[in-house]
Amino acid sequence: ARKRLLKLKKTPAVTRDGTPITLLANIELPDDCPAALEAGAVGVGLFRSEFLFMGRGAHPVKVPSEDEQFEQYRKAVLAMKGRPVTIRTLDIGADKPLDPGEHTALNPALGLRAIRYCLAEPQMFLTQLRAILRASAFGKVRILIPMLAHAFEIDQSLSMIKQAKAQLREENVKFDEAIEVGAMVEIPAAALALPMFVKRLNFLSIGTNDLIQYTLAIDRVDYEVAHLYNPLHPAVLQLIAMTISAGKKAGLDVAVCGEMAGDVKFTRLLLGMGLTEFSMHPAQLLAVKQEILSSDLALIAPRTRKVLRSMEPAEIVEAVEQLQAM
Ligand code: PEP
Ligand code: MG
Repeated sequence: ARKRLLKLKKTPAVTRDGTPITLLANIELPDDCPAALEAGAVGVGLFRSEFLFMGRGAHPVKVPSEDEQFEQYRKAVLAMKGRPVTIRTLDIGADKPLDPGEHTALNPALGLRAIRYCLAEPQMFLTQLRAILRASAFGKVRILIPMLAHAFEIDQSLSMIKQAKAQLREENVKFDEAIEVGAMVEIPAAALALPMFVKRLNFLSIGTNDLIQYTLAIDRVDYEVAHLYNPLHPAVLQLIAMTISAGKKAGLDVAVCGEMAGDVKFTRLLLGMGLTEFSMHPAQLLAVKQEILSSDLALIAPRTRKVLRSMEPAEIVEAVEQLQAM
């Protein structure tokens, strides 16, 4: 079966009735790029930049310098040979502590993490933005900001990017002036107030891992409540579907980059919601492609609408299984 999948590497991802689908890779470090290419990814949809900052041992942690970061971002951009690379700014805190030796909040998932942390450490954030911008001179780079919920957080982030650009311009350092900036939609408030995002940003990427955690109030790393973590909860499905349709209606690219995007159980459900961009671990990519190649949107879409109208878990599970069997 693996051999059959490998044959699909160069096959374009298109549904049976002709809709092209973009399959991207999630990476943690530039060294993951060869595996992404090997799986036929047409770009990187999520570069989890925090992995450059983590596991460096020292306490207090010594964060990577601008040059060090720039080298790593450029390495990924060059390795992808002209394909777009979406670099997510530092998503530190909660399940990914920068310094495990430091005091942790009682509720770290609700605390000073990701963009909240970056806006509280503007110098560190600016350093990262400068490094990303510098890498954008070597290929197509996009900036993705995690954990946004408030308009002012988007505005502050954009103004920091503007500041980083102004500095580089002043220093005669090359970068892509038209670099696109997008948001992770991973807090329910973001999905529910999407016009706030659409107005300010160029693209969206749905982080289902956190979206499920925050919608259902289930700590994603607490095994005692792991059985309650359910991607098919109707509230979760509503938020995902709303984000895809409202984002696309406004003309923005919308991707899913959480685990759901790489799980073949959900491929047709997401296709039926109108999703055309999936970003996942490279190891999952060919199986998802195979599912797409055998999918007929004209058949799937009406069935998916039925799933979305249901508020009965058993009915939803059954309808999703039927989608898979179609
Ligand atoms: C997510 O939340 O779905 C996501 C892709 O980000 P992470 O898993 O890194 O929090
Ligand atoms: Mg997340």
